[in-house]
Amino acid sequence: MLKKNRLFTPGPTPLLPQAQTAMASYGAHHRTADFRALFTRVLTDVKEFIGTRNDVLVLTSSGTGFMEASISNLTSPGDRVLVLTAGKFGERWTSLAKAFGCAVETVTAPYGETISLEEVRHKLTPEIRCVYVQATESSTGARHDVEAIAKLVRALPDTLFVVDAITGLGTTRLDVDGWGIDVIIGGSQKALMIPPGLAYGAISERAWQRMETAKSPRYYFDLRKERKSAAKAETAYTPATSLFAGLAAALDYVRQMGDGNLAAGRDALIANAELCAAMTRAGVQALGLKLFAPSSPAAALTAVAAPAGADSTAICKRFREQFGAVVANGQAEMKGQLFRIAHIGYYDYLDTVGVLAALEHVIAEATGKAVEFGCAVRAAQEVYARAMAKTQTTVEVR
Ligand SMILES: *Cc1c(COP(=O)(O)O)cnc(C)c1O
Repeated sequence: MLKKNRLFTPGPTPLLPQAQTAMASYGAHHRTADFRALFTRVLTDVKEFIGTRNDVLVLTSSGTGFMEASISNLTSPGDRVLVLTAGKFGERWTSLAKAFGCAVETVTAPYGETISLEEVRHKLTPEIRCVYVQATESSTGARHDVEAIAKLVRALPDTLFVVDAITGLGTTRLDVDGWGIDVIIGGSQKALMIPPGLAYGAISERAWQRMETAKSPRYYFDLRKERKSAAKAETAYTPATSLFAGLAAALDYVRQMGDGNLAAGRDALIANAELCAAMTRAGVQALGLKLFAPSSPAAALTAVAAPAGADSTAICKRFREQFGAVVANGQAEMKGQLFRIAHIGYYDYLDTVGVLAALEHVIAEATGKAVEFGCAVRAAQEVYARAMAKTQTTVEVR
């Protein structure tokens, strides 16, 4: 059979066709009125997409660049910081903070679980300068309770709260200003449906003030310099201009999803991810598979434990070779133990039931056991039908 290449990875995610067209035809120089107009429009829209009154920046780098900036701009060597970690991206915060000489304390949860609020409360002292966490830990499929953690951090006046929401933005409700998140970070290759290369984020006034005294070295990722340039509708260095054109098109698409309201479109995108995730969880469980993060599953992606006796590397390989579907394996020491199906951004009903139908074949092959074809698809359809019935009732009630 014909095979279409389809990404089900939690970044990069499938590209929005309108954004691809916009990128292919964009050729303006970055120090021109044309680009300044595009840049201003993108910053305004990103601000609305994040849902904040804080200043936003869009950097030409992968998401990790903005993570690094959130360490180097906010800390001085020797500063005590607290990292809340439950996976490979949490561990990245620890490595980054150590690279800049911070004294790193951690609250650690086993892979597949979420952070214990009790332990956070215990470790959170006024000497902690910054707290770093993920909104959704893409390596395990777990969602952390950012609102509850924010409440604990906000009780301390001088502790900054930084959230890597690179797979959280556009898949999870995050009230950045209401909860008091000082830095929130997103990446272009996730919910915004364009290729890798841009990182975006919002920065609170408290965080801007900290930058005045923070002494860690920084140059390319000096956020104060970017803020100054942004005030003149420019970037400090050469930006990835075509990605900005793609981002503008993607944000327009999200606005259309909200009938002209970008924030409503973002909420619709979140609801879409939530429904794709609920369908997928029902489908994999109907097949007898176990979720890798059952207690707190993210809408960004579903991580599924490899069935007993099977290796997820073979499962991912089979998906790719038989169906052209790129499903993510476990990272590092989790390789072989789980596979991950993303719901971030540009996924619809047919993508979701399609990948579940393929999964039925893949699991039959991987376990050598008979699979009742249609069982995963049917469970997903039932979730979908119930969700549709519910939206219909709400419309009628109104
Ligand atoms: C994708 C991702 C990142 C950023 O990775 P880059 O490869 O630098 O873009 C960081 N954190 C999480 C949770 C992610 O999913």
